[in-house]
Amino acid sequence: MTSTVPALHPAVAEFVAADRKMLIGGRWVDAVSGKTFETHDPATGNLITRVAMGEAADIDAAVTAARAAFEGPWSRMKPNERERLIWRVGDLLSERAEIFGQLEALDNGKSVAIATAVDVGWSADVWRYNAGLTTKITGTSVNPSMPFAPGGQFHAYTRREALGVCGQIVPWNFPILMATWKLAPALAAGNTVVLKPAEQTPLSALLLGEIFEEAGFPPGVVNIVPGFGDAGAALAAHLDVDKVAFTGSTEVGKKIVHAATGNLKKVTLELGGKSPNIVFADADLEAAVAGSVAAWMFNHGQCCVAGTRMFVQRDIFDDFTQAVADAAAQAKIGPGLDPTTELGPLVSQEQFDRVSGYIEAGLADGGRALTGGKRWGESGYFIEPTVFVDVEPGFSVVDEEIFGPVVAALPFDDEEDIAAAANKSIYGLAAGIWTKDLSKAHRTAAAVQAGSVWVNQYNGFDTALPFGGFKQSGWGRELGDSAIDLYTQVKAVNIAL
Ligand code: NAP
Ligand code: MG
Repeated sequence: MTSTVPALHPAVAEFVAADRKMLIGGRWVDAVSGKTFETHDPATGNLITRVAMGEAADIDAAVTAARAAFEGPWSRMKPNERERLIWRVGDLLSERAEIFGQLEALDNGKSVAIATAVDVGWSADVWRYNAGLTTKITGTSVNPSMPFAPGGQFHAYTRREALGVCGQIVPWNFPILMATWKLAPALAAGNTVVLKPAEQTPLSALLLGEIFEEAGFPPGVVNIVPGFGDAGAALAAHLDVDKVAFTGSTEVGKKIVHAATGNLKKVTLELGGKSPNIVFADADLEAAVAGSVAAWMFNHGQCCVAGTRMFVQRDIFDDFTQAVADAAAQAKIGPGLDPTTELGPLVSQEQFDRVSGYIEAGLADGGRALTGGKRWGESGYFIEPTVFVDVEPGFSVVDEEIFGPVVAALPFDDEEDIAAAANKSIYGLAAGIWTKDLSKAHRTAAAVQAGSVWVNQYNGFDTALPFGGFKQSGWGRELGDSAIDLYTQVKAVNIAL
């Protein structure tokens, strides 16, 4: 198969022609150390551009700027003024969807069509949804009984207040979308932010930084410090940061919790998964095949919610897994910038090695690949979509998050058995259920341990629906109005009249 990569949009070409700086206190600055790092095109391994490399000193400067903005203009702004600024970010993103989409596809490797429609298009929606929430953050009024003060009269109410300076650390799989999920509610609730994008994909967040200036945000409300894990660690440990929100691996999530103990800052975690996708024999099988392929192949399997344990009822197991393998094998592989690409490269050499290692381990353990099982092409970080059968719990391909286009298929007999099998995981992020039996769907939805359950679809996200994990998949719920809870604290005021 051949691929045609169109010329870069002039705005993207211009953006990557220069080294990129970091955004601190409304100014674009070099790292204190003067150091930079490279970001690469995963389809070729070629250098895209160099980026200022933030470390602890830069994080410190960004936190100082965020604190000054929090205590200054931002906290004096009315909710409807914040609303207009946040709405404007959504509009500017929509206007520039093509530019942001192409930059994201270039830096991350994902399909430009998906980057534009899903990553950028949905981000715009999340900005607008949160703009609407700014004016709806309310407390309650309470009529206290006050058993210690009989006869007294009281008026009590609660206020929902911003936390202050929030540190936000995001991964490379949905760079601008994960930044948006965190930034939009934090700003809507009146906080200021220091954002650390992933070292593999810093560019879309830096381009977003230009939008804040243009939309009219006061300097220092949003600060963006690209860098490596040590910059994230400095942010998580910083004593003047009131909250840290993290999306990434469960391993680093645990480090964040430890780092936060110095000042007991609030912590939100959105971590890994090994989500079950359960196919009953009575499902609409055509829809279930297509949906089950997307469940683990979307974004090249680099999704925290990927449905990578595909449980199929035994009567249909052989036919169904073969149909999934056949459909997966037809995906057009190529660079994300080619608009006809269906499966792009993994994000980095490290991720390529990691996924290749899991495939080798799956084969060595006795698993059989119905399709895939090896590298695609000679350059770039491409892996063939891989469907494993003859696998069982205990194999690393069944138990561990792979974060590549690899699924493990497991048979099950009855509805009574499936929840126990599906719940045999340290994770609990998402689950898919395919059946035409409504009662069975509801029973299974209640029995699976997962923060999101999708019936007769997969990746059934919505801006208004809370998202987050059970068990070791995380703490807290992003999206929906529950995201505001993550970025506010409640104050109870009780007045003796
Ligand atoms: P990761 O290390 O957890 O990276 C996520 C973010 O945390 C990045 O911004 C990273 O910065 C930063 N970071 C790294 N070490 C840190 C530390 N000690 N303190 C604070 N921040 C730190 O994930 P990864 O290494 O890129 O990927 C490894 C595996 O994690 C994947 O194979 C996948 O299984 C899982 N993962 C899950 C998600 C998800 O959405 N749940 C997303 C990505 C990866 P740098 O990029 O500069 O290191
Ligand atoms: Mg890159």
